[in-house]
Amino acid sequence: MILDIVSYPDPRLKSICKPVEKVTQDLRILADNMLQTMYAAPGVGLAAPQVGQFIRMVVVDYSAKEDLRMPRVLINPVLELKGEVIVSEREGCLSVPMGYRSNVPRYSHVHLTARDLDWKLIDEELEDFPAIVVQHETDHLDGILFIDRISRLKRTFFDSKVKKWLRRQK
Ligand SMILES: [Zn+2]
Repeated sequence: MILDIVSYPDPRLKSICKPVEKVTQDLRILADNMLQTMYAAPGVGLAAPQVGQFIRMVVVDYSAKEDLRMPRVLINPVLELKGEVIVSEREGCLSVPMGYRSNVPRYSHVHLTARDLDWKLIDEELEDFPAIVVQHETDHLDGILFIDRISRLKRTFFDSKVKKWLRRQK
C-alpha cells in the first residue's frame, strides 16, 4: 500500500521517535508499505515519521538502480559519524516540497548499527552515498530535515518560497 507522505512544514516532522521494542506483524506491514511508498515516489530512503509513525525505523535502497533493487529495513539505527565532512550534492527529501534541493554537509563515513526485521544485528561501515543516505534518514528520527543543515541565508530563502507556494496551493 502506498502511504501518504507528511510534508514540511508539518510539525510532526520535528518529532523525536521512540525505539522499536520488537518486531510485530504490524511493523512488518509498515516496513513493506514504506518500501512500496519509497519506490513509488521514487526515493532512496524513507523514515517512519514521514508516514506519520513516530518510531525508529527507516527503509533505504542505496543501490539506486531500478533493475536491481536492494531494499533494506533499518530498525533503531545508530550512527557513529566518521571521516571528513563532505558536500552531499543537491540533497532532497520526499517531505520537502517543491522538489527543493541543496548541498548539505555530511560525513564521508559512518559506522552503522541497527536491527533488521529478524532482529538480527546489522553492524557495518558505510561510505559516500550509502553513508549520506543513512545520515539523512536517521536525522528524520530525531526531527531533523536536511533544510535544518543548510545555511541560514538559504533557509530563509527557502522558507519564503514555501510560504508563497503554500498560498498558491489553497
Ligand atoms: Zn528525507
